[in-house]
Amino acid sequence: MNADYPFTWQLRLSKRAKRPRLTISNYGEVELVWPHRMPKRYMQSMLTQHTAWVLKQLSTLNIQERTNIDLPEIIDFVALGQKWALDYQPSSLSRIQLSEQGFMLTVTGDMDDKEQVRQALLAWVKKKGRQYLKPWLAVVAQEMGLSYGTVAIRLQKRRWGSCSAKKNINLNAGLLFLPDFLVRHVLIHELTHLKHLNHSPAFWQDVKKFDANYKENRKLLQQYGLKLPMWLHQSFDDNLHK
Ligand SMILES: [Zn+2]
Repeated sequence: MNADYPFTWQLRLSKRAKRPRLTISNYGEVELVWPHRMPKRYMQSMLTQHTAWVLKQLSTLNIQERTNIDLPEIIDFVALGQKWALDYQPSSLSRIQLSEQGFMLTVTGDMDDKEQVRQALLAWVKKKGRQYLKPWLAVVAQEMGLSYGTVAIRLQKRRWGSCSAKKNINLNAGLLFLPDFLVRHVLIHELTHLKHLNHSPAFWQDVKKFDANYKENRKLLQQYGLKLPMWLHQSFDDNLHK
């Protein structure tokens, strides 16, 4: 099904989507979201029409980086102004252990099992997300005069955050890799969903009160998303891109 186009893509049939859309994840995965009741015969023209656009988006990705995925030497939490240097210490420990000293993160354990090391780093990034994003959200919520339920920190591939009808907020720990003004942009966006569970004109009006540059920030967010480190989302056990 991929052979007709100069890029690989996946199909997702959606009951909620009203019209088809093409999305590109931070990692260059192209997904066609197709309303499940829409005849599939229109798919081909949709893909053909958008081929140039998809190729342009993909060209902004660093292809070399994509194929040479490796464990990071540095973890740069741009939002926090923290650059962590990693020190990998092979040992016969069965579990990976992490220890912090200053901004040095020492990883001890079986370095041949890269995926296990990666998982330990992901857990550490999520921990940092809980440590910094939760209080950050609280500060911005107070500024906006809003209150929310629980906060969960995840490492989703496609979303920077979400807000539920029950007023619970999810944030992506990947936000730590973005400049702080874009983190704020996302926090304001999700907090505004406490008032509007949609993207209506009223929603954007309220966003604008706290994030005057929200339109520009939205575009920047997409660009920065494309530069996130590969190891965050690409498993070493994954053969997809080989
Ligand atoms: Zn939204």
